[in-house]
Amino acid sequence: MRGPLVYHGSALPLAQGAPSGQRRVPSARPGDFFGSQAPMTRKVLIIEDEQELAKLLKRQMEELSCTVELAFAGDTGLQLAESTTFDLILLDIMLPGMDGLEVCRRLRAQRVYTPVLMLTARDALEQKLAGFESGADDYLVKPFALQELDARLGVLLRRGRGSHSRVLTVSDLEYNLDTLEVVRAGTSITLNPTALKILQVLMEASPAVVTRQDLETRVWGEELPDSDSLRVHIHGLRAALDKPFGRPLIQTRHGIGYRLVDLEPSA
Ligand code: CA
Repeated sequence: MRGPLVYHGSALPLAQGAPSGQRRVPSARPGDFFGSQAPMTRKVLIIEDEQELAKLLKRQMEELSCTVELAFAGDTGLQLAESTTFDLILLDIMLPGMDGLEVCRRLRAQRVYTPVLMLTARDALEQKLAGFESGADDYLVKPFALQELDARLGVLLRRGRGSHSRVLTVSDLEYNLDTLEVVRAGTSITLNPTALKILQVLMEASPAVVTRQDLETRVWGEELPDSDSLRVHIHGLRAALDKPFGRPLIQTRHGIGYRLVDLEPSA
């Protein structure tokens, strides 16, 4: 019974074939996030294997001044969500391979707190409950009207990122995951993207040791670099983070890995 056709009917006004050039978006109500008073571009990730629906949603949200990235499977969606900061994720539950619940669980486990709006099959109460348990912020039952989507998005985006701290702190070192700003003892530090990723993994694990293998997988994924890359980047991190401050935070556990911890915390 379910299929793309569902979304070509009344559920999504966009698909009704409005004349080209005519704005096909329901007019924003006062207070809606997408109203004219909110010109800021929002980044949205849509993880949905029904490609027709995904593309419809993308077009719709682009008309609402969002920039949108699409993923048609759970694992590719997860990779995108981990590597890029989004303002919102639309996440279908029923996905091939890794399902939406698992995607959400993994994101939250990695302290990615981007608001997640789950898309569930009609009236699947168990899915909704599982969705909340996995860390979703809200859900929407398919098929849905665009106005309903709009209203839910408004709430989630207004709630926004501010509801969770996205600043990692170890001793006098701070890393803001939203602005990508690294500050130690009040001094701003510039790091390249790979170093930032390594730093994030170490700070999130602190004070635990992270094995070399774990670090390499988290930073480079399947495409492991040559065996010296990690050591080179750690060397660079030390030069930027530790040398100027006289008190090292990056500790080597020989033959095992690294950890980030202040062994001489000031009283
Ligand atoms: Ca699906």
